[in-house]
Amino acid sequence: MSSDNTRIMIVDDDPAMLRILSAWLAKAGYRVQTFDDSREALASIENDPPDFLITDWEMPYMTGLELCHRVRELKLAQYIYTIFLTVRSTPTEMIEGLEIGADDFLSKPVHQGELLARVRAGARIIDLERQLGLMARTDYLTGLVTQRVFYDALDKEWARVERTNAPLSCVMMDIDFFKKVNDVHGHPAGDAVLRKVADLLRCTSRTSDTPCRYGGEEFCILLPETTEANAAAWADRMRKRLAQATVVAGKNSIQVTASFGVAQRRGDTHRADTLVDQADQALLYAKQSGRNRVARFGSLSDSGAPDEELAGVHALFAGAVAQQVMSPLAGSLREDETVGEAAEFFLRRRVNSACVLRADGQLAGILSEKDLLAAMVSLECWRLPLRDVMKPDVICYDADTPLETIYQFLCRVSIRRVVIVRDGLPVGTISRGTLLRWFRNLVATRGETTVDSASESSPANDSDNAYRRLVEIACLLAAESAELRDRCRNPSEDLVPYLVGQAGRIENLLRGIATYCGPASEARHPAS
Ligand code: GH3
Ligand code: MG
Ligand code: MG
Ligand code: MG
Repeated sequence: MSSDNTRIMIVDDDPAMLRILSAWLAKAGYRVQTFDDSREALASIENDPPDFLITDWEMPYMTGLELCHRVRELKLAQYIYTIFLTVRSTPTEMIEGLEIGADDFLSKPVHQGELLARVRAGARIIDLERQLGLMARTDYLTGLVTQRVFYDALDKEWARVERTNAPLSCVMMDIDFFKKVNDVHGHPAGDAVLRKVADLLRCTSRTSDTPCRYGGEEFCILLPETTEANAAAWADRMRKRLAQATVVAGKNSIQVTASFGVAQRRGDTHRADTLVDQADQALLYAKQSGRNRVARFGSLSDSGAPDEELAGVHALFAGAVAQQVMSPLAGSLREDETVGEAAEFFLRRRVNSACVLRADGQLAGILSEKDLLAAMVSLECWRLPLRDVMKPDVICYDADTPLETIYQFLCRVSIRRVVIVRDGLPVGTISRGTLLRWFRNLVATRGETTVDSASESSPANDSDNAYRRLVEIACLLAAESAELRDRCRNPSEDLVPYLVGQAGRIENLLRGIATYCGPASEARHPAS
């Protein structure tokens, strides 16, 4: 820190002292400000803080000690190095001064050389403090601000929008498959990509926005006065610019994409960090639905279960993983098969959706009855290949994924089912129906009463319900048995785990039939 841009404020009720100290410091090149009233000094510090405060101890209205205390309470962004002028600095006085926030002491009468030496020593401390502050606030690689500055800005904006109710949005961004960039081109090339992303963020955002490097290859941007729709439009512009950009690192030309999650503060967003969390949830959705896209939190459904409820849900799902619950793939289609062949497949197997595979067995998309209906606009459509009508973006979860994760996802989004994969190959699906069935079975195995036996139901209704349930079980048993037959005829290497799961399912169904044949079976049979 050079003396000519160092600002020193001197506060003393003795005009002679102010004159002499300011003359010495000005002569040494410092920019000096003097106050004979500590109250005015405090007001000035609050508006425009100096680097140094040199204050007398004994003053009318407000002592130097109180002034120092009030300055520290302001919690200013920059540190003010404070030197006390004292007539006699007893140990008690010095301890009191240090406790309140003094950095150094100068005894009156002041010696010119000592004053300048103490200011130079203070300048070294200020320099170090500023460097540390800069390091904590600026990311060394990209030059963007750090998470810490982002959260400071968020807190400030949050307080403002709570008063004004102005829109405030947050965008979370994560580079897609960035690990691959490092693996293929090396870490320095990865760093060059990060710098490029930061440059694009800087030139696409407004001065009122706060783009930060949130960590690793994740960036977070705070957009004041911006609705979710406008933030999503901004994110999509950024997404396109990034996708079109080329990063040249040595001999490599690298192209990357990124996924974005967008959220706007809403009436029920009570905390600032919830906004970031919602943008993060939307980002997760953008990743799971295929990457290189923008997802809006407002478009995910409003399930938002409170924390106590989540704890209950957590206990309920304890230990269950996707593989135990999924419906194994009852056959699948190939992307070059036609709409007509798929319709036959659906009708014959009585399924309402199926995975569509590429020739190498990898998942290409998912096809539902709705996609087939949408394709039935002309007779020619019957011959369209499935790759033209299926949905290519499939949400996949690994077979070991905790069931709770999938439950939370299906609660939140409008998608009905997810595909379960093992080593990248599809092995089953979990739909909302699968979860409902699983939950019903859980209730049954825990010996709880079911919704069917609610108190208002009459005995006649009870028997109707039981009979309907028997028919339902019989149909399920037929479907499960048919699937078992198909899987055994065309065995794949994962037949054993499938058989274990399937045997359990069929056993459960048989137990359901046995319940119907209990002592009261006659009474349960429908009258007609
Ligand atoms: P996804 O699309 O799911 O986000 O995949 P991904 O590969 O981008 O995500 P993942 O979290 O698996 O990998 C992130 C990688 O980012 C791993 C880590 O080595 C790399 N990374 C984090 N910080 C830096 C950095 O400062 N420089 C470089 N070169 N790489 C970094
Ligand atoms: Mg005095
Ligand atoms: Mg990441
Ligand atoms: Mg990533």
